[in-house]
Amino acid sequence: MMERRLIAVEGVVQGVGFRPYVHRLAAANDLRGSVRNDASGVVIDVEGERGGVVAFCASLTLAPPPLAAITRIDVVTASPRSYEAFSIAASGADAREYGPTLIPADVATCRQCLAELFDPGDRRFRHPFITCTDCGPRFTIVRDTPYDRERTTMSGFPLCADCEREYNNPADRRFHAEAIACCSCGPTLRVMASAAGMESHGGADALESAVSALRDGRIVALKALGGYHLACDATNAAVVGRLRARKGREAKPLAVMVRHAAEAARLCVVAPAERTLLESRMCPIVLLPRRDDAGIADSVAPGQRLLGVMLPSTPLHHLLLAGVDRPLVMTSGNRSDEPVAIDDDVALATLASVADLFLVHDRPIAARSDDSVVRVVAGDTRLVRRSRGYAPQAIRLARPAGPPVLAVGGHLKNTVCLATESHAILSAHIGDLETIEARRAMQDAVGGMLRAARVTPWAIAHDLHPDYASTHVADALVRQLGVERLVAVQHHHAHVAACVVEHGVVGPVIGVVFDGAGLGTDGAIWGGEFLLVDGAAFERCGHLAYTPLPGGDACARRPWRSAAAHLAACGVDGRRPDGVDALEWSLVQQLLSRSSQQPRTSSVGRLFDAVASILGLRQVSRFEGEAAMAVEVAADPCVAGSYDAPIEGDATWTVDTGAIIRGVVDDQARGRSVAEIAGRFHVALRDLIVAGCMRMRAATGVEKVALTGGVFMNALLLTGASEALSALGFRVLVPRQAPCNDGGLSLGQAYVAARALDEEGPCA
Ligand code: ZN
Ligand code: ZN
Ligand code: FE
Repeated sequence: MMERRLIAVEGVVQGVGFRPYVHRLAAANDLRGSVRNDASGVVIDVEGERGGVVAFCASLTLAPPPLAAITRIDVVTASPRSYEAFSIAASGADAREYGPTLIPADVATCRQCLAELFDPGDRRFRHPFITCTDCGPRFTIVRDTPYDRERTTMSGFPLCADCEREYNNPADRRFHAEAIACCSCGPTLRVMASAAGMESHGGADALESAVSALRDGRIVALKALGGYHLACDATNAAVVGRLRARKGREAKPLAVMVRHAAEAARLCVVAPAERTLLESRMCPIVLLPRRDDAGIADSVAPGQRLLGVMLPSTPLHHLLLAGVDRPLVMTSGNRSDEPVAIDDDVALATLASVADLFLVHDRPIAARSDDSVVRVVAGDTRLVRRSRGYAPQAIRLARPAGPPVLAVGGHLKNTVCLATESHAILSAHIGDLETIEARRAMQDAVGGMLRAARVTPWAIAHDLHPDYASTHVADALVRQLGVERLVAVQHHHAHVAACVVEHGVVGPVIGVVFDGAGLGTDGAIWGGEFLLVDGAAFERCGHLAYTPLPGGDACARRPWRSAAAHLAACGVDGRRPDGVDALEWSLVQQLLSRSSQQPRTSSVGRLFDAVASILGLRQVSRFEGEAAMAVEVAADPCVAGSYDAPIEGDATWTVDTGAIIRGVVDDQARGRSVAEIAGRFHVALRDLIVAGCMRMRAATGVEKVALTGGVFMNALLLTGASEALSALGFRVLVPRQAPCNDGGLSLGQAYVAARALDEEGPCA
């Protein structure tokens, strides 16, 4: 009996070899009909013997291509049409009103393409844009959905006859691979000197020029996948110093790119899980313990125990590394904290004063995507920065979102997030919203996201802080898009929600949020919080005792200010640390004498700053969290002893951090080592987390604990607290799919707002 079925597949099914997969499956079951992309995913129209159709439907989800992720399948039967063959049809443009198509993330060059890249007999030998159905650019070249070549930045490169043959051959591994190209039809490289009147030349010579410039100790700006990179020889201290000076990046660690995992293992200690990550299709920067004899210039990651290492993710990077044959510093092509440059004109203008040479090409970049940064802590992958390779992979929601909600994130490490139906799409890392460029990049990301999803949000969620640039953007978007609702979400509530949502937890959770700064509902700056969170609601059960924040935001860059505040708060006379300006010191003392007029904070980040300053580790943080990181690096992980931090009060209790500070000062006076004191400080924080959670469990019966907030980037504290809590029968939840720092805020905001609307009942 003949049967015909129409099958709609949603999820990540475009740009991942799904249609060729369907084509093969149809052939195997002797079916005729067609498959095509549409705005909501893939639509399949098959007919044949009933048995074949049933077998086809049954096996459709069994072994989809590795990059595909199916979220939904709808099947209806229809009357047979007597099709003659099975074909891959042109994309339907008729379905624009359908739900969102999930755009796949970019994928690092696969082994097969890599083998061809270095095979002199292959027709794509040394072609810098080699790709196939299993690898290559996706998110960063997509201009619009459905995902077809004509709607990507490859549209300006018509396929040559050879490529066309591969594209149309079901047996070829480039069958319907939208981004393919070769030496005769693909984009081409060009090199430009940034001084000397921008003379340029192209072709294979361009690559050679860049290689020799790098070997000669020069800085090369390189047009990469989701933005420009700045590259230089990582073993050459002089050029690394020059890069730092020109880029305006004083001390923040730089990442290094090496040819392969064996080379990474020469520089750093690489555990199996870390090697898997290095070689994964996401190809992130992995933070690894560096070896003393690594031969990398000290200025690459000054004062750090970890080094960020990544492998080449694109054919262009593979060719460069093979040519230079030494580790390269590979960092975002921007000046200080601006977003990474993607536009050629902007890049040439802003990077002209940084780079000696530009290696560019003629394929535009459609979407910005920095390198992702990950770290393995106690066997688990933790995201530090979620971007290339990860974004815009969807995150499943614990509960369906109802009407679409857009969340605009925080002020630092900004990301934006769109929650629709069963999943949330978290943008690539955008950065700190300190500059007009960053705010523009954020608006680009919002625009791209809404365009791909084809939705107008019903509500926009933002941080409670009225002065965050993201809050201003939310205000503007509400008017621009005619959005119904604006939902303010408290910073630390959002942190906990982001953790809860990815673990699929519904119901109350204890949230321990150790963070830098976020505005609280009482007007104070929170950051050491014990919250009871249940969806759209939360209760603040306890927090670190407030201390003054003399001069407000200035404290984050001047750890000694927090030291002065904490010492004054517990009645210890602080002495001016070496290197602190006498005038500034007396000004802060004056501010503290009128402490009732200063903002107050419960921030653990500032407590770390205070300890860093008292121990003489850092008086200035040249990048966010530098002082706190120094305390972690200094700590002896196996010390005995702790500092007691009594809990006071009943309804909303507070933790007396003065006891910790006094303990640190006493130990210092007794001559205990910095390593020992820093170690004991970590134990003290672990103990107070446990004490707070015990108290909350006794009061509420809740056993699930989310540990989140930027401070939990600290591996020593995170492992200590997780182990201690697990041993006491708590179920510990830690963010994995999104960073625990402010990069995950938008995910939590979207979820809280969605739940709030949900609880209000059906929208009118
Ligand atoms: Zn490939
Ligand atoms: Zn070609
Ligand atoms: Fe935060």
